[in-house]
Amino acid sequence: MSSSTSSSLASSGPWPPASYWGSGPGVASHFCTIGSGPRVITARLQGEGVTAQLETLSDAQGSAPRGAARGGGTRLFADQAACPFRGFAAFRLHSKAIETPRPGLDARARGTLVHCMLAAVWREIGNSDKLAALSARELEAVLQRAADEAFAQQRPRTDALDGRFGELEHARLVRIAGEWLALERRRDAFEVAAIEEKQELSFGGVTVQVRLDRIDRLARGTHVVLDYKTGACAVRDWLGARPEAPQLPMYALGSRSADAIAFARVRTGGMAFIGLAREPGILPDVDAIEKDRNAKKMNIPTWNVQLTGLRRELDAVGAGYMAGDARVDPKRGKQTCAYCDHRVACRVAEKASFGAVGGDDADD
Ligand code: SF4
Repeated sequence: MSSSTSSSLASSGPWPPASYWGSGPGVASHFCTIGSGPRVITARLQGEGVTAQLETLSDAQGSAPRGAARGGGTRLFADQAACPFRGFAAFRLHSKAIETPRPGLDARARGTLVHCMLAAVWREIGNSDKLAALSARELEAVLQRAADEAFAQQRPRTDALDGRFGELEHARLVRIAGEWLALERRRDAFEVAAIEEKQELSFGGVTVQVRLDRIDRLARGTHVVLDYKTGACAVRDWLGARPEAPQLPMYALGSRSADAIAFARVRTGGMAFIGLAREPGILPDVDAIEKDRNAKKMNIPTWNVQLTGLRRELDAVGAGYMAGDARVDPKRGKQTCAYCDHRVACRVAEKASFGAVGGDDADD
């Protein structure tokens, strides 16, 4: 900062605020490191012969949003549950990371292609009987058409789908969807009741639009809500306080009552349904909730108890957002912060140098 700007700031009032003062005449470099409580800072300054008056400001509470909150999708709940400051930064301050351009397709673009591909496949096939009746050659033709459709949808968003790279990506889509359908053939009879259906859901005063990847209706009239995932996913992210992956729980509480929710993990070598169900036998390898190890650990005995608990937790997360809750409180400490875009704004890294991320200041 130029000396004229510094002087002008210093003369702007009796208390020019400095949220971080890295160095300066008579001021220790650790003056305002956020992990230090007031007594620590004052003692350090006194030890260095500096007289200063400190005032503290709690910034754990932002202003409440005006009127009813709408929009934001399920991401708003995911961010607010993971860390209230993350939700506040992303949806009230509209803070965003600057994306780094890279050649080819990134993981998100690849995941989107898989979503488009499977949506196209099921729009054409529609139910398990038709899937079972397809010959290998007919199935290959369905997959080729679906990959063409996925490419046509995504081409306007990227130039990475042409040439040899595009051919390889097309072949990868066909192969991966074929592997996925081998797992779907193991299921009891079902029909795909909805693909990418939009719903409006409200929790704790926040209304969001969600888009469900897929809802299946089983022969016995039960419904299964599926969310395609190409990356990591785990049931434990839905359970207990502050569910970190709230999409499926939110869908489960939507207008069609669900009897099972599951990630459809579409990943080479790891194709699986990962979820929870009201009763056994709804999806391959998905336990009834009574048998699930995570649910047992958290004392969730039945499907209805799970849905009631989810409703309560999601209402609490929505109410926190509506109240302006902006605490720096990552749910799983450094693990939650690892891939967060808001580290610069929350300054948790500075706090980490004074102790564990997410821990309390001993001095405050
Ligand atoms: S980096 Fe961690 S503490 Fe900071 S906003 Fe993100 S999750 Fe919260």
